Amino acid sequence: MQIYDLIIIGAGPAGITASVYAARKKLNFLVISLDIGGQAAWSGDIENYTGYQFITGPELAQKFQEHMSKYAIELKENEEALGLRKSGEGISVKTNKAQYQARTVIIASGKKSKELGVAGEIEFKNHGLTYCATCDGPLFAGKDVAVIGGGNSALDAALQLIKIAKHIYIVNNTDKLGGDAIMRQKIEEAGNVTILNSSQITAVLGKKFVSAIKIKNNGMEKELAVQGVFVEIGLVPNSEFAKEVERNREKEIKVNLNNQTNIPGIFAAGDVTDVPEKQIIIAAGEGSKAALSAFRYLAQKRF
Ligand SMILES: Cc1cc2nc3c(=O)[nH]c(=O)nc-3n(C[C@H](O)[C@H](O)[C@H](O)COP(=O)(O)OP(=O)(O)OC[C@H]3O[C@@H](n4cnc5c(N)ncnc54)[C@H](O)[C@@H]3O)c2cc1C
Repeated sequence: MQIYDLIIIGAGPAGITASVYAARKKLNFLVISLDIGGQAAWSGDIENYTGYQFITGPELAQKFQEHMSKYAIELKENEEALGLRKSGEGISVKTNKAQYQARTVIIASGKKSKELGVAGEIEFKNHGLTYCATCDGPLFAGKDVAVIGGGNSALDAALQLIKIAKHIYIVNNTDKLGGDAIMRQKIEEAGNVTILNSSQITAVLGKKFVSAIKIKNNGMEKELAVQGVFVEIGLVPNSEFAKEVERNREKEIKVNLNNQTNIPGIFAAGDVTDVPEKQIIIAAGEGSKAALSAFRYLAQKRF
C-alpha cells in the first residue's frame, strides 16, 4: 500500500489552504473530503475575508477551488473518513470507500448543522425542511418560511431569504436576537421579517411537504402556517471519526499552537478544533499553520 507523507481530511477553507501549502512544500499527499468548499459555500454575503470587501460564499468557495486546482493535488471527493488509527510511525485512515496510510494527517473536517430533535424533522427533511439557506433558499420563492435560531447563522439565513421568500418568521428561543449588530439592523429594516422571541418549535407539520410548524411561547402552543423551515440552531464538530484524538466537552479536537493534537503526527485545523472563533479567515490561517507543522514534523523525523 502507498504511504503518503500527509492525508488532509476535509476541503473547506482549512483543508484547502493546508493543501495549497502542502503542494508548495512538494509533499506527497492526498485530500479526502465529502465536498469542496465546506461551510464557506453555504455562507450568503461575506464581508470579512480580507482582500474581498464583498463576495458571496459560493464565489469564495469557487476561488478556493480554483487556487487548489493550480496544483496537481490528489483528491478523493464524495469520500467520508470513518476512522483514524496510529500504529508505530504510521497512521491509517479508513473511509467509506478504502483504507489509506500516511505519516501525518491533518483533520480539517469542520462542523455540521445541529438537528432540532422535534417531531416531523426527519420526515420533512428535504420536503420543506432544510439546513442550508444558500443551497435551498431559491426553492422557497414567494413562500412564507420560518428560520429557527437566533444567532449569526439564523440571521445570515434570514438575510439571504429576504429577497426570495414572501415572509420570514425568525423563531428564537431566547428573549432577544444574538449575532452581529449590523446583521440585526438589516433584519429590522427588511419589512418582511417577524421576530418571535422566547419561542420554541415543538413540531413540523404537513402531508407530503411542510405546511406549518408548532411553536410554544409562554406555555401556549400555536400553529404557524409556513411552507419552509430553515434550521439554524448551531453546529457540531465533525470529529466522531477521530475519537482516539483528545477532544473537549463540545467534541472539538484539542490542538496546541502548532496545530498538533495529543497524538504525534496527527494535526487539526479550523472549526473542528478548540481554537476560539470560527471564521473563514481563521480556518484558512490555521490550515496553513497545520500544513507547515506537518512539514516540520516530517523533516524532524527524517521521513
Ligand atoms: C451560514 C453560515 C454563514 C457564515 N458566514 C461567515 C462569514 O460571513 N464570514 C466568515 O468568516 N465565516 C462565516 N461562516 C463560518 C465559516 O464558514 C467557517 O468558519 C469555515 O468554513 C470553517 O472552515 P473549515 O475548513 O474549518 O470547516 P468547514 O468549512 O466546515 O469544512 C469542512 C470540510 O470537511 C469535510 N468533511 C466533514 N466531515 C468529513 C469526513 N468525515 N470525511 C471527509 N470529509 C469531511 C466537509 O465536506 C468540508 O469540505 C459562516 C458559516 C455558516 C454556516
